[in-house]
Amino acid sequence: MSEIPPHKHCPVCGISIPPDQEFCSKACEEKWNLMMRQKKKSIYLMWVLVAILVVIMFSSYLLR
Ligand SMILES: [Zn+2]
Repeated sequence: MSEIPPHKHCPVCGISIPPDQEFCSKACEEKWNLMMRQKKKSIYLMWVLVAILVVIMFSSYLLR
């Protein structure tokens, strides 16, 4: 195989980091945590919208 030593990539900026590290810097870790929080929030919002749509569809079916 190739001569590349074991390493990981920072999930935020993509630069090589030692395999025992998750992020290249504290700033990238904070950015990642913020992104995860926004993602969770948007998934939650999506399910709320789906629930509202189901209620609207169900009530229009019942009222017919
Ligand atoms: Zn980084």
